[in-house]
Amino acid sequence: MPYCDHNATSPLRPACRDAIAHALAIGGNPSSVHANGRTARAVVEEARDWVAKLVRATPDQVIFTSGATESNTLALCGAVEGALDQNEARQASRITRLFVSAIEHSSVLRAAERLAERSAGIRLEIIPVTEGGVVDTEALRVMLREGKGRALVAVMAANNETGVVQPIAEISRLTREAGALLLVDAVTAAGKIDLDISLCDYLTLSAHKLAGPQGAGALIVGENAPLAAQLVGGGQQKGLRAGTENLSGIAGFGAAAKAVLADVSLEDGAERVRIAAIRDHFEAVVKREIPDTVIFGETSERLCSTSNVAVPGLSSDNIVISLDLDGVQVSTGSSCSSGKIAPSHVLSAMGVDEKLAGASLRVSFGWNSSQAEADCVVASLLRLNSRASARAA
Ligand code: PMP
Repeated sequence: MPYCDHNATSPLRPACRDAIAHALAIGGNPSSVHANGRTARAVVEEARDWVAKLVRATPDQVIFTSGATESNTLALCGAVEGALDQNEARQASRITRLFVSAIEHSSVLRAAERLAERSAGIRLEIIPVTEGGVVDTEALRVMLREGKGRALVAVMAANNETGVVQPIAEISRLTREAGALLLVDAVTAAGKIDLDISLCDYLTLSAHKLAGPQGAGALIVGENAPLAAQLVGGGQQKGLRAGTENLSGIAGFGAAAKAVLADVSLEDGAERVRIAAIRDHFEAVVKREIPDTVIFGETSERLCSTSNVAVPGLSSDNIVISLDLDGVQVSTGSSCSSGKIAPSHVLSAMGVDEKLAGASLRVSFGWNSSQAEADCVVASLLRLNSRASARAA
């Protein structure tokens, strides 16, 4: 069955399955000093090396978590609390402003809202995006300049619904100049564009978006970035994230990072070129066959993997159900919010009107995608569109 929903979860690579099976068979706790414990520890540390390499970090900067939702919460809450701990006497280091882009994943938006609600003296402001789905750096510059107090800024490396790549280098420069901290959710971008922890203070990853297992993720912490643990207990991971490590999940995550690095290291970026060709083919055929198709973020820099299109006259829910009946698996908006009938907050932030946003579908490709799958999506979409046009006539 064609599966074009890699931004929701990218199917497990065989190498990850093998690594998971191997880890499950060890039967030891990575904190134990006996032989099985040491074998388990070696698996965790090898995975840490691969995950670190993916974002040009050193292994000691990697904290394994249960996924990017936990990583984002740990970064936001841990930064605010850690900035207090770091210098109780100096008010200047306290975080008093949270600047979060309008297109962040709900795990960043909701956590930031809750943090602002529950902490006296912290204000949340939303950074707008352009029609092309790019964070408005000029607006951020003004926000950083006006107002008082240290800011924590959250901007994702690339958006999960549109694939639009965000200007992280420029945002990094602006935040550094302002003495602010920067959280980058790199969940969708990882493996598709180069990532570098030195540009930010916190970077979050999720294994299942990289063709690893669900329930494993990481927070990468920049040098000197404040961080207070949010889960306490055993002293695992230098006390920053207590709890016995998810050995099999971490092993699968490491194998996923290793596989991605093998792709990336192809001199000519061949894997990205291959995936981009599938995506471009999909868009070219849909546009040719249904000329009024709208491609969101079309004029912006986008990841090779993602296409978010609207076919006026259709409805997202119908598209997804009808394609599913044809055995074609795609998504509407972000998969975490599908199931709820709410317009995509990403498309509304881009100024897309509700009706058009309600006609959108997201197609996302990955390591095992083929052009034949893209053709199946188009064929199914065309069948649905002609049925809808016939009914309307
Ligand atoms: N950030 C982004 C951009 C995501 O797409 C997701 C998952 N949909 C998350 C964070 C949360 O990741 P996880 O499923 O690992 O909790």
